[in-house]
Amino acid sequence: MKVLVICSGGLDSVSMALRYVEEETTLMTFYYGQKAKKESEVVKRLADKYHLGFEQMDISSLKSIFGKENQLTNDSATVEDGYKKSVVVPLRNAMFLQVAMIYAYSNGFDKIVLGSHLDDCVLVDGEYAFPDCSPAFFKAFEMAMDMGTFRGEKHVKIETASLLGLHKKDLIQFANAKDPDILKETWSCYKNGEHQCGVCDSCRNRKAAFKEAGVVDKTEYEE
Ligand SMILES: [Zn+2]
Repeated sequence: MKVLVICSGGLDSVSMALRYVEEETTLMTFYYGQKAKKESEVVKRLADKYHLGFEQMDISSLKSIFGKENQLTNDSATVEDGYKKSVVVPLRNAMFLQVAMIYAYSNGFDKIVLGSHLDDCVLVDGEYAFPDCSPAFFKAFEMAMDMGTFRGEKHVKIETASLLGLHKKDLIQFANAKDPDILKETWSCYKNGEHQCGVCDSCRNRKAAFKEAGVVDKTEYEE
């Protein structure tokens, strides 16, 4: 089976990638102008260690489409502690998936895998905190891609941790059992410090999930 994993270098997508290291797997990572730049180094190390394919897609020339509002892509905006709508890069998964889907379709891949899990599907004020991480979005996207390609010729399935019924703690437990050395190297932080900050929304979720998983967190944090 040919598997294409959209891998940010965070623990969710790395854990999903570890499920497929025995398959003919390629890791695809994106640079879209985000502040966190250490993410892709983790993906490269993972690909080298398990002899997987590696594709780095530099789409940073499109950075201006995100405007000025977004904390993760606007260099003059500070990354705040805790969840704000402005940490959500609008339709980021749709953009990644579109590129990945064309690549998968054109290169004979059976499946695209993403790390989005059930804890990404929490509601804030009655809306999904990360709308393009919802299972409904992924199913609708898969269907749209089927309708936009030659019928019956190929079907590329989209698999996410959420569609498998997995929470972040399940991903940590799996990765810890499979490759604890890679797990501690994964990068979750929204910033680009020497170590992960420990206080941004993503770092907080990471710390909490390690506790919930009952796995010792060996990550080096700034605080
Ligand atoms: Zn952080």
